[in-house]
Amino acid sequence: MRSIQMVDLQGQYARLASEIDAAIQQVLQRADFIQGGAVRALEAALSDRYEVKHVIGCANGTDALQLAFMALDLPAGSEVITSAFSYAALTEVLLLLGLKPVFVEVDPDTFLMDVSAVEAAITPKTKAIAPVHLYGQMVSMEPLMALANKHNLYVVEDAAQAIGSQYCTPGAHGFAGTMGHIGTTSFFPSKNLGCYGDGGALYTNDEALATRLRCLANHGQTVKYQHDLVGMNSRLDTLQAAVLLAKLTHLSDFEKRRRAVAHRYDEGLAGLSGIEVPKRTVDSSHVFHQYTLKCENREQRDALKAHLFTQGIPSMIYYPIPLHWQTAYKQVVNLPVSEDLCTRVLSLPMCPELAIEQQEYILNNIRNFIQKSQ
Ligand SMILES: *Cc1c(COP(=O)(O)O)cnc(C)c1O
Repeated sequence: MRSIQMVDLQGQYARLASEIDAAIQQVLQRADFIQGGAVRALEAALSDRYEVKHVIGCANGTDALQLAFMALDLPAGSEVITSAFSYAALTEVLLLLGLKPVFVEVDPDTFLMDVSAVEAAITPKTKAIAPVHLYGQMVSMEPLMALANKHNLYVVEDAAQAIGSQYCTPGAHGFAGTMGHIGTTSFFPSKNLGCYGDGGALYTNDEALATRLRCLANHGQTVKYQHDLVGMNSRLDTLQAAVLLAKLTHLSDFEKRRRAVAHRYDEGLAGLSGIEVPKRTVDSSHVFHQYTLKCENREQRDALKAHLFTQGIPSMIYYPIPLHWQTAYKQVVNLPVSEDLCTRVLSLPMCPELAIEQQEYILNNIRNFIQKSQ
């Protein structure tokens, strides 16, 4: 049996090597390394696939968030509502730009922003809401957009973990990142659509925002050497775009395989005492960037993680510290659900390449551990 990894990038490359190598060779021969043909082709392919008018490649998912808030040009000190049970990038970007993250709770079952808690957090200084589509499912965008429209707020979606997830209710539908004013995504190697280094993209249906974003990502230039905005150097490399284009044709297959892995975990873990398998939201599909268990308590979680480690099985805690408790972003605010989840979540190996025998081995080890500890 191959050694088990959270994400098997070597296994994936081995499967796709001929296509990826050819795509890279083509860029090397054309030498259009910056803003080359593959970048434009990828933007067009994503725009088509996710039914969004404008896609703008950039250097990484964190820059995408920074560019989004630079484009909105909010007054200093504006408040942006987001969740504290999340990755740090969004909060970091807000603070860098002189904006204030205001944290609301997440749902204890789906781990997603609790939209019913958002309205109470709105003040006269609130200018935007930034939902994070955590682990591969989408925040309830229909009520969120209604609230944003009612209070005249921007919505910036962080879709780094949810590329391809689809929201669908009788009243609204759309892909992750395309329903708010701006959406962002990341092509970090371990993401569902990952390149071989850093990469990211922005989505918007707003022509004026698209123009601003494109300009900001390229030194604020509209015409070469004419700088209209204070921007950044944040472009998606042509080499990375070529890799992404080659992988994009397999993304539906990756999603299918991830769902099959999740289904096998669900079945293998059903009924185990103290272990909750991930709950699905009713209104979006799940692309399983992560398969995250909720354990009974910190002791059980940490003991399970340690046990799996001794058996050669990696697992990860996304995320061990809520953002309002991080030294760099400290805020005095009471978020019991987010705080509790940090002590109980455990993500298992999840990738399209996880073999059935590897998964059986993982499941047997979890079952043994739970049965022994009873
Ligand atoms: C990965 C990730 C990011 C940042 O993406 P990078 O490309 O690593 O900068 C932002 N938000 C979330 C939720 C992520 O998972």
